[in-house]
Amino acid sequence: MIPIVSKLPQVGTTIFTVMSALANELGAVNLSQGFPDYETSPELIELVNQAMKNGYNQYAPMAGVMSLREEISKKTEKLYGAYYNPDTEITITAGGTQAIYTAITTVIHPNDEVIIFEPAFDCYAPAIKIAGGIVKSLELEPPDYKINWEMVKRLINNRTRMIILNSPHNPTATILQQQDIEELSAIVKNQDILILSDEVYEHLVYDGQSHLSMARYPELRQRSFIVASFGKPFHATGWKVGYCMAPAHLMNEFRKVHQFLVFCVNAPMQVGIAEYLKNEQTYLGLKSFFQQKRDYFRDALKNSRFELLPCSGSYFQSVRYGRISDEKDAELAIRLTKEIGVASIPVSAFYNMGTDHHVLRFCFAKRQETLDKAVDRLIKV
Ligand code: GLN
Repeated sequence: MIPIVSKLPQVGTTIFTVMSALANELGAVNLSQGFPDYETSPELIELVNQAMKNGYNQYAPMAGVMSLREEISKKTEKLYGAYYNPDTEITITAGGTQAIYTAITTVIHPNDEVIIFEPAFDCYAPAIKIAGGIVKSLELEPPDYKINWEMVKRLINNRTRMIILNSPHNPTATILQQQDIEELSAIVKNQDILILSDEVYEHLVYDGQSHLSMARYPELRQRSFIVASFGKPFHATGWKVGYCMAPAHLMNEFRKVHQFLVFCVNAPMQVGIAEYLKNEQTYLGLKSFFQQKRDYFRDALKNSRFELLPCSGSYFQSVRYGRISDEKDAELAIRLTKEIGVASIPVSAFYNMGTDHHVLRFCFAKRQETLDKAVDRLIKV
């Protein structure tokens, strides 16, 4: 065997793949990996079919199909009052993860420091490390997982290049509040710090609250790569279509990397999604669709011994299980999959050091029957 030096020696297979595989193997209800188990809209499928039949089967433009970039620009302006030029400031990516990897690769040089908040979605730290960057993580704690901005200030020095934000947050289901925006703005003002804002759950915000996109604030917008996805809102995680928005000088560099990573994203999906986006109900209706699922799942679990943590956004519900067990979250997640047939994600997997607050994450983007089955089993634990 020819020896190689691993760039990610500590990394194994992602927890999403591990838990989904275990759930499939055991026939458990899979509330682990975040994806819907109901069908994508037939209308959207028809639009993609039409695009294939109309001959959109060759390479898309490197930056993405123009009609899709135009629809994204219109949507962003309508929702957040910010204009992004479809020609120079929006690029279609193969899902949110590729956009995140590309943005990090584009701007992070060896020894640049990047601040992340843990629990953090699992692709941030590896992408930083592959670029030679240094991960500076700030651990957040249940039940509120609030960012302590004083602590953030202390992490900043002249090597700090980027802060990665994620709102609505996976896995904790928190959302940034106005106060966070003010603190963040004050911290980055007059500093050469970029922001990578993972907003893939932008439309999934509950209880009449608003999504505070970085696009809304000129001070933040001018330094931000905003990442979003169509997999989550349009129940099509398997299509792997997302996008990134950034000011032209950042996007210009982003595209230099993007073109050699994937060159372009599948064409017919982009054409179909562009048509579908023309009807704003396709995304505005998501709040009530998912809030109903969230409310149902939370109400049902009130009769269980799990302690529900707040859920303001995303399609995840986290719970503490101190009243049930003191075993490690990863052990409990596996045991519940085996013994009661419900798979979840142990939240320690989102901490670099494996910090275990005894919290499990459930995905409620599931059919009513699936949620019923899961709840029936969970309330017996
Ligand atoms: N975003 C989804 C989750 O958090 C799945 C991501 C993945 O499987 N890579 O479960």
